[in-house]
Amino acid sequence: MDNNKSKIVTIFYIVLMLIFIVMLNSGGDHSEKQHGEAVDHGTSASTDHDNDPTAYKEAVEPDAKAEKLASLNQVLETIAATDNRPVTESGEDDGENPLAAKISPDVAIGKLIQGNIRFAKGEPTHPNLDAERRLLAATESQADHAFATVLACSDSRVPVEAIFDAGVMDIFTVRVAGNVCDVDERGSIEYGLAHVHTPVLVVMGHTQCGAVTAVTQAVQGHGHALERNIPDLVANIEPAVKNAMELNPDLKGDDIIPIAIEENVWSAIEELFMQSPVTREYVSNGYVKVVGAIYDIGTGNVDWLSEDKTLDILAKVEASEEKAVMEVGAVKDSHEEDAVEEESPQATEDGDKKATSEVEEDGDKKAAPEAEEDSNKEEAPPADADKA
Ligand SMILES: [Zn+2]
Repeated sequence: MDNNKSKIVTIFYIVLMLIFIVMLNSGGDHSEKQHGEAVDHGTSASTDHDNDPTAYKEAVEPDAKAEKLASLNQVLETIAATDNRPVTESGEDDGENPLAAKISPDVAIGKLIQGNIRFAKGEPTHPNLDAERRLLAATESQADHAFATVLACSDSRVPVEAIFDAGVMDIFTVRVAGNVCDVDERGSIEYGLAHVHTPVLVVMGHTQCGAVTAVTQAVQGHGHALERNIPDLVANIEPAVKNAMELNPDLKGDDIIPIAIEENVWSAIEELFMQSPVTREYVSNGYVKVVGAIYDIGTGNVDWLSEDKTLDILAKVEASEEKAVMEVGAVKDSHEEDAVEEESPQATEDGDKKATSEVEEDGDKKAAPEAEEDSNKEEAPPADADKA
């Protein structure tokens, strides 16, 4: 592509995206602004809409919504027809983008927005659920079709494919209570981005999240005994709750929960950037966009959080000393793992992990399977060591 032509394509693309953004902002995203204000200014923001199932319906009249959807469809079709790949900063494909054959991150986000509007409006089209699609799934690579990776809560009220009116081979889904981003979730996300080649990752919390509510109440001193494996899970949510309380010292009791739910999304994104070099690389190069979102279980509406904030978090992580220390630690760990494998070729990664978690649990060493438990303990990556 010559330089002038690529500049024209870039400008055309930017103009279309501006129209798209204006349409989104004029569509009555009242609730999204509330979320933004709650965090950006540390006010005692009202988040009544989180518990009011009629809020979104009132904000967007059915006719206006249909009109908005039609306009969105038109803009997205135009973008999809003219732009099949991410535009790099120079406006040219550098030939190294592994996702070059996929739709761009913005088109992928647009498809999610469209699907969610159909779902919330009660007019889903249930795409890609027929026998033809199943045959395609059995014969082709999902990497050629799936367009989004979504990290969401296990909550039965948050069915990801339904929320985005998507079907088979559309979304690479990672679900875990409290949509936390610990090592298995980060591994799944890396698979979704680097192997399934989805151009967007959505980290999606939801209103009335039981996991965040339980942790908030525990931090406020209303906790109760937890089953054996739950403390490690909630340890991922605690920093977000404490951060929400610090940012909003005037909020008491359950009023902190909606803020903590959003902080928990940012915390998962930060944890991912901190520990996933490939995610940082893909986002920095514009191959992938990471977006935060809050799903409202009463209205069915997804509130999209600020994309700028994601980039701010990435910049903060890139500049942090903690990230540098982790990278050195990762190299050291992998060398130590090699050494252990030489000594004990049967020690699998899972075996090591199991021994580690058992050793770490308050002196509960009853089932440590190998004589290596001390060296296993030292093998624990920094993130797990934090939880002990
Ligand atoms: Zn939840």
